Amino acid sequence: MTLDLVLRNARIAGREDHAVDIAIADGHIVDIAETIAADAPEQRLDARLAVPGFVETHIHLDKSGILDRCCSEQGTLKEAISTVAAAKRDFTTEDVYARARRTLEKAILQGTMRMRTHVEVDPRIGLRGFEAIIKLKRDYAWAIDLEICVFPQEGLLNDPGTDELLVAACEAGADLIGGCPYTDTDPHGHIDRVFALARRFDLDIDFHLDFDLDASWMDCDEVCRQTIAHRYGGRVAVGHATKLSALPPARLLATARRLADAGVAVTVLPATDLFLMGRDHDHDVPRGIAPAHRLLVHGVTCSLATNNVLNPFTPLGDCSLVRIANLYANAAQIGRASELAACFDMVTTMPAKLMNLDDYGIAVGHPADIVVLDCRDRAAAIAELAQPLVGIKRGRLSFTRPAPTLHLPKS
Ligand SMILES: [Zn+2]
Repeated sequence: MTLDLVLRNARIAGREDHAVDIAIADGHIVDIAETIAADAPEQRLDARLAVPGFVETHIHLDKSGILDRCCSEQGTLKEAISTVAAAKRDFTTEDVYARARRTLEKAILQGTMRMRTHVEVDPRIGLRGFEAIIKLKRDYAWAIDLEICVFPQEGLLNDPGTDELLVAACEAGADLIGGCPYTDTDPHGHIDRVFALARRFDLDIDFHLDFDLDASWMDCDEVCRQTIAHRYGGRVAVGHATKLSALPPARLLATARRLADAGVAVTVLPATDLFLMGRDHDHDVPRGIAPAHRLLVHGVTCSLATNNVLNPFTPLGDCSLVRIANLYANAAQIGRASELAACFDMVTTMPAKLMNLDDYGIAVGHPADIVVLDCRDRAAAIAELAQPLVGIKRGRLSFTRPAPTLHLPKS
């Protein structure tokens, strides 16, 4: 077999105890061994960490990069939704494409290689955002696998015309369907309808859910109930779930067990949740971030994700999932190496499980998707915000980011 490339002296994430060589041919990983004898082009990694690309389960490419046209004063969720609702009436397909492209290119340069983007569909935006992201998905397939989740940000049953547009998007190739029950006048009816559409088109589901700190009620219970009733375990995720941060230990344990039993995954969005939650406090502001590391222990599939970038929901962001995991670890008071490694897993293997990606991972037979990080292990990657230096997507170099150089004075 003719090899296209051999990566020498790599530490594979999760198996960092010894370095190996990785052989690539025809876009796939064909061998992993301590030493691979081959006369092929090679790259020396000098015992740096090789990662199968980061996995982003929750980002809004379509409404990223709009700070120049939005004016926020209170910094609340309600204000963010209404400000963007007003702005998106003027979105064109070209405008969405141009902004989403800038955001996607940043994510690629940060080492993200699989991504689920949530795209708004309703009578204000119509299918313009969806059409732009479909084109982006095709144009950037060389660098990233993009999955499109269409969803009604401003409600479904309360927003005439939205249902028909969601159906049209599902018919036109949406990869999955989302929901946002907290913006609907009938949250349970909303959940019902999303499950009905998902079953009709055989799509997985990803809800925005339980996005406040009032623990007196949760839609999570209804989502778990319907997941079990529809035999949809392993195909449903919920994002935010900030109410979980307000639960005392016994209730959190019961909810974790319910999520694990139902097969409902949780995506935590620390940048947005830290920015928007607790705005009614003028001191002692709660963090408002669901404790993903505690849910993991009870068998819940959890991911950490970006959500919004440079818009009223989150006016910050660089599309780095390493930074998001670092932010989560800091806010969740995580410092032990094993827990930092778990944070790394929540931007790699865990979101791959959430998205049911069965060809993810550095293994023989899998696509040669590899990102080299400037560090030795997973815990260090998160603790020190390790930079991605090189990306290889299906065997082809997709980006390089040379390590910075210090220019010492001559002695
Ligand atoms: Zn979101």
